[in-house]
Amino acid sequence: MSEAQEAQEAQEAQEAQEAQVEAQTEDRRPLRRPDWLKIQLRTGSDFKELKKIMRTDGLHTVCEEARCPNIYECWAHRTATFMILGNICTRACRFCAVTAGKPTELDLAEPERVAEATVKMGLRHVVVTSVARDDLQDGGAAVFAATIRAIRKASPECKVEVLIPDFMGRPESLATVLEARPDILNHNIETVRRLSDRVRSKAKYERSLELLQRSKSLQPEIPTKSSIMLGVGENWDEILETMDDLRAVGTGIMTIGQYLQPTRRHLLVERYYTPEEFALLRKEGKSRGLLHVESGPLVRSSYHAHEQAQGAM
Ligand code: SF4
Repeated sequence: MSEAQEAQEAQEAQEAQEAQVEAQTEDRRPLRRPDWLKIQLRTGSDFKELKKIMRTDGLHTVCEEARCPNIYECWAHRTATFMILGNICTRACRFCAVTAGKPTELDLAEPERVAEATVKMGLRHVVVTSVARDDLQDGGAAVFAATIRAIRKASPECKVEVLIPDFMGRPESLATVLEARPDILNHNIETVRRLSDRVRSKAKYERSLELLQRSKSLQPEIPTKSSIMLGVGENWDEILETMDDLRAVGTGIMTIGQYLQPTRRHLLVERYYTPEEFALLRKEGKSRGLLHVESGPLVRSSYHAHEQAQGAM
């Protein structure tokens, strides 16, 4: 079969899968959200101040774009996750609220502005992430590296964690990021092996594992981290298998949280896990050799990030 035919078949398979998910989403009613997921809105003065800094400096945070349920708590503790490389993603994962489409021009002053905001906000642990920029040759790796260096220069005490896309598996992009010496290399595997193609767009379960493994072989002393969200149709054994897979490629930190449907157009929640089940998973992760496991209904990739870093280091 020619490459063009293969690409055509892959495209058709993805479209069929998306149509199936859409049909499923339309036909069913969402599950009632349990009480332990009710979030209190607390827009105090810290929250308002941080929002003002973000807007004045023209910055994006994943806290806002992804409608993170912990935004009030994290911002009150002066922790934030910057989203670089614009706010339009070249992928369209079925769970994600970030806008998909044609990305904006690269903003070469962005690393400096992130560094300045880090200082203004007095951050001690900053997380830098991005949309997927499959339109760029290096997937945006050079901008990640420049942002790490700019933060280091402006705020030498601040720990820098990067939450990177898979860069389509390009080893040289990963190497570019690692050469800038982040304190933590985070890449989310998002879900279990069986559901990966259905839930994520263009990403591959194996490719994510490969990236985490490669990071460890290139820079063994930089801790690696990954996350999954629960409630998209996985079963218990598959969650444990994912823990084992992550551990096998040297991942030290894992976060586990409940998937929440951001809008009616996104994947339905198949199941709400109880706080007790999350606690059990934390134990399972630790007994499987993970150094730090943050597991809870409202846990997100960057939740309590500074504590995770201490735990793994
Ligand atoms: S790659 Fe997927 S999860 Fe990441 S920002 Fe884009 S759509 Fe969201």
